[in-house]
Amino acid sequence: MGDWSLWRMRPAAIAYVLLVQALALALVVLVFVTGSRPNAEDLLNFGALAVTAGGTIVITSASINLRRQIRRNPWTLHIVYLAAGILLLPTNLLVLLLLGPTLHGVLHDRPEPHRWLFTTAATTLAAFAARLVLGWQEPVWSSVGFFTAGVVLLLVRASVVAGGIRLRTPEAPRAAVLGEPIDVLLGIVAASLGGLLAVAMSAAPLSALLAGPPMVLLDLASQLPQWRRTAQNDGKTGLANSSHWERLARVELMRARQRQQPVALLLLDLDNFKRVNDELGHLAGDTVLSAFAEMLRANIRREDLAGRFGGEEFVVLLPGTPSDTAYRVADRIRMATAALMVATRDIRGEQRELSGLTVSIGVAATGRFAYDLTDLLVAADAAMLAAKAAGRNAVTLA
Ligand code: GH3
Ligand code: MG
Ligand code: MG
Repeated sequence: MGDWSLWRMRPAAIAYVLLVQALALALVVLVFVTGSRPNAEDLLNFGALAVTAGGTIVITSASINLRRQIRRNPWTLHIVYLAAGILLLPTNLLVLLLLGPTLHGVLHDRPEPHRWLFTTAATTLAAFAARLVLGWQEPVWSSVGFFTAGVVLLLVRASVVAGGIRLRTPEAPRAAVLGEPIDVLLGIVAASLGGLLAVAMSAAPLSALLAGPPMVLLDLASQLPQWRRTAQNDGKTGLANSSHWERLARVELMRARQRQQPVALLLLDLDNFKRVNDELGHLAGDTVLSAFAEMLRANIRREDLAGRFGGEEFVVLLPGTPSDTAYRVADRIRMATAALMVATRDIRGEQRELSGLTVSIGVAATGRFAYDLTDLLVAADAAMLAAKAAGRNAVTLA
């Protein structure tokens, strides 16, 4: 993730973040100034929602802290009671529900308070956009209205947040900007649960408490993308880790065998990498690994599977690729490695620009070998060792 410290961001991003926050603040002030006095039923609804939301946030936060885990922003949980509040409450009490994200902010040490403030502001704008669609003073309940308000709530929030991420990090991957498909699903579940909660509360306000357990479950589910990422990806390079890569590669090979399409495998090992560690330190070595992985990604197609096999060894599976094409791809990667310039710091903390890296690559393809991952890996490994023996900075075909 990029740097969210406000003043280190590019000017357009700073202007955008400040604008979103100013708009949200203006809305809050406007609502307080123009809001009418809530009646007893409003206060009861607010109390039931606030107790449920607060209780859920405290319980989930305590459980995360006890397990010493890092939690993603529990925005799905906030969406549930905000959606209910949008349907049930006068606007000035709806504003008070935004103390939920604030409570969450207080219960967790936020290394980047600015980021949290920004997402809270985005959520505020989205909640009031949804309320505007339903009827500002008196929300009109209709199936179309419920549906439209849910869509507006999720879309406005996602767009405002996506705009911020795009301006801050223009090169951010799609999943970081728009969220993953599971995030979209979780948002829909959260908004729907909020709608059901409002309907249940209109019959009996205290039924809000029934939403507590599903909200806890939703919060757990919203950690799924993070758990999956750490289980499947290598932390230093962001590439698939070796066990995940192997699973993907086996599936890809099975598919290719059914279609009788060629598949090639590259095994890459950085040359004399120990020297980088010895001369510049292990942190510089890690920066090199990460820069190498980025270069690797840039030199292969979307459908190719790159993984970190271990240490300074990488693997790439190239579906639909015969050996001569794979050789050319490997040679392109070899030359791109030699041209790589990596900005890093040495053991004394001084800035260094590292260049002159080289890589040895073994290539094996299904033309000569069966559609068997182990056979291909053994062949590619032998070819890579032959490239090392031939003096390194070379590509060898098995
Ligand atoms: P060769 O050209 O024969 O491959 O030489 P080499 O130095 O690259 O090979 P060797 O296997 O002797 O050393 C690999 C080095 O990679 C040793 C280890 O310290 C380093 N390494 C493995 N994993 C990591 C890592 O995650 N971070 C860093 N910084 N270094 C790592
Ligand atoms: Mg090695
Ligand atoms: Mg090596």
